[in-house]
Amino acid sequence: MLSNRQLFLHHLGQTSTAPLMLEIVKAEGITMYDISGHTYIDLISGVSVSNTGHRHPDVVEAIKAQTGSYLHLMVYGEMIQSPQVKYATRLAELLPAGLESVYFVNSGSEAVEGAMKLAKRFTGRTRIIYFRNSYHGSTHGALSIQGSELYRNDFRPLLPDTIQAGFNDPDAASLIDDHTACVILEPVQAEAGVILPEPGFLEALREKCTEKGALLVFDEVQTAFGRTGSLFAFERFGVLPDILVLAKALGGGMPLGAFISSRTIMSSLVKDPQLGHITTFGGHPVCCAAGLASLEVILKEQLAEKASPKSQLFRELLKHDLVTEIRGEGLLLAVQLKTPAHTGYIIANAPRHGLILDYFLFCSDSFRIAPPLIITDNEIKEACSKLISLFDEAQMMLKD
Ligand code: PMP
Repeated sequence: MLSNRQLFLHHLGQTSTAPLMLEIVKAEGITMYDISGHTYIDLISGVSVSNTGHRHPDVVEAIKAQTGSYLHLMVYGEMIQSPQVKYATRLAELLPAGLESVYFVNSGSEAVEGAMKLAKRFTGRTRIIYFRNSYHGSTHGALSIQGSELYRNDFRPLLPDTIQAGFNDPDAASLIDDHTACVILEPVQAEAGVILPEPGFLEALREKCTEKGALLVFDEVQTAFGRTGSLFAFERFGVLPDILVLAKALGGGMPLGAFISSRTIMSSLVKDPQLGHITTFGGHPVCCAAGLASLEVILKEQLAEKASPKSQLFRELLKHDLVTEIRGEGLLLAVQLKTPAHTGYIIANAPRHGLILDYFLFCSDSFRIAPPLIITDNEIKEACSKLISLFDEAQMMLKD
């Protein structure tokens, strides 16, 4: 009989040449348990999803309660489904005026597609400006605005009329003109290896978008829900988008995405013709119930506010010869090592040390630290002591 390991490789479509291959039987809080009885500290939240930890009791309770009422009823936007209404209303309460209309979808990529379509429909323009080393998803539209050729070139032709700009390039705003439908960016670039915006960069884009009637879209799929030390990253920079894209932690561990705008902008999807965007499962009631429960935990336990001191603790405890820089905000950190070979060694050997780590798509010399925000100081100390042993080991093994 074939093992699950063999069946996994045989029957599940694979795209990674080096999957983690851990068979997890249970996950709780920041810990994963595998079939052989090993435990792992989750330092990546798989990826940036489990902000309130795995199977938070409030989230599990909300899921159970909703499964007792109904699952799927009808395609999105036809019936009044109370989990969707409650979640959208709560998000609107927490977001500034101008971001009160929530369109729920299933994933980050889909939310990005929706945001781009909304910008085109509202402005009547086609041009989209995006940024080097940005990641917005794997669907064709999202690939068209991926800021790296490597993973997209074979899938051409992609969307026409897209222009790449340099993140933090002071000249980027000058590309925005009367043809621009939207400018889309991650306010903190994640897969680029956690790159923060330079002071003035987001402000200049905002100003030029307003002047030219283009929409500013922030993709906060990785950065929202407390990850960078505020509920939404844009709050830290004081720049408001016209469309906000959310996913990952939005669902509290269930699949959910959303694009959010003003009612005026969103209403363009309802006319000329109607049904500007359709989804069968978007805003699934169980996912909305789970997401809302997770959001309430983030607020009640002030997880956003606590992310920054926790970040500081990681920085203090990860001082090592191998570490050349630690970038980031809150609990979205990039630990840069001396060489990509060191990064590869650390990530590949992390499970043997009881840790789960991951790469960034576009930054080969750094690894990611983005644990569940509920991680305690003692758990951070334990994780860092394992990391330091791993650094020592890598230094010894890769000595030239
Ligand atoms: N935008 C950003 C910033 C992301 O990091 C991701 C996923 N890593 C996506 C969009 C796409 O999300 P999904 O994988 O849910 O389609």
